Amino acid sequence: MQKGQIRVQTENIFPIIKKFLYSEHEIFLRELISNATDASQKLKTLASIGEAKGELGDLRIDVTIDAKEKTLTISDNGVGMTAAEVDKYINQVAFSGAEEFLDKYKDANIIGHFGLGFYSAFMVSDKVEIYSKSYTEANAVYWSCDGSPEFELYEIDKADRGTKIVLHINEDSKEFLEADRVRSILERFCRFLPVAIYFEDKQINNTNPLWTRKPSELTTEDYQNFYKELYPYGETPLFWIHLNVDYPFNLTGILYFPKIKQSYEIQKDKIQL
Ligand code: ADP
Ligand code: MG
Repeated sequence: MQKGQIRVQTENIFPIIKKFLYSEHEIFLRELISNATDASQKLKTLASIGEAKGELGDLRIDVTIDAKEKTLTISDNGVGMTAAEVDKYINQVAFSGAEEFLDKYKDANIIGHFGLGFYSAFMVSDKVEIYSKSYTEANAVYWSCDGSPEFELYEIDKADRGTKIVLHINEDSKEFLEADRVRSILERFCRFLPVAIYFEDKQINNTNPLWTRKPSELTTEDYQNFYKELYPYGETPLFWIHLNVDYPFNLTGILYFPKIKQSYEIQKDKIQL
């Protein structure tokens, strides 16, 4: 009998990630925005327990595209990363900093889990660059990788706290340089994320959705307007139930009951819906 450990050859990992990580390539945007959101939430958590000092400023995420340079950029002013953190969380595929933060601070607002999300960027990019300045450091760090297992990492000057991720979009993924395409993905995935997300200088999301507020503070009009926001062409709903459950699990939401327009024609032995 022989016992041993399966060996993984790193050169083979990238093509697998690129091809199979997600069947929908557009998911990369959700992954990078959730990392930026996590970075902002971490900073809020650290500030609330006095580990991050000073003014946080308005926490926000900016998405921009540059069709000429063929880049899509996501920047945040969250916790940022030190060189050691980039080496630990980015250079080690499948090492989740989110998981580590969760274990340490029990912060339920963190989205990340598996430590693979960042690499989804390579599904749509020839090259990915990171510029990051940690809230703990005076110096910033630059990282880049062209999709081979080799990377570059060195110190740079960057004035403001946070992380900027620049994707050099590949030939097959040009759709992600089109404003309408990017906007529609953002509207789908980021509508209710808790940190303000801007694209082309317009805020995409509602950081304070109705279901997070107290029913006693809300009017009928509030509920109807929120429904209109979700379904601009829908009719005013018949009624709604505001859910707020703590036990056996945490659940908040609003259940709307729409008006049904179609009339039910009941024939002898056939029901038409
Ligand atoms: P996960 O989010 O599941 O932990 P990812 O591959 O998406 O895995 O990211 C790996 C880690 O890299 C994160 O946990 C975080 O520590 C770090 N990271 C990624 N993006 C950012 C960012 N914008 N700001 C700060 N840290 C980041
Ligand atoms: Mg992630």
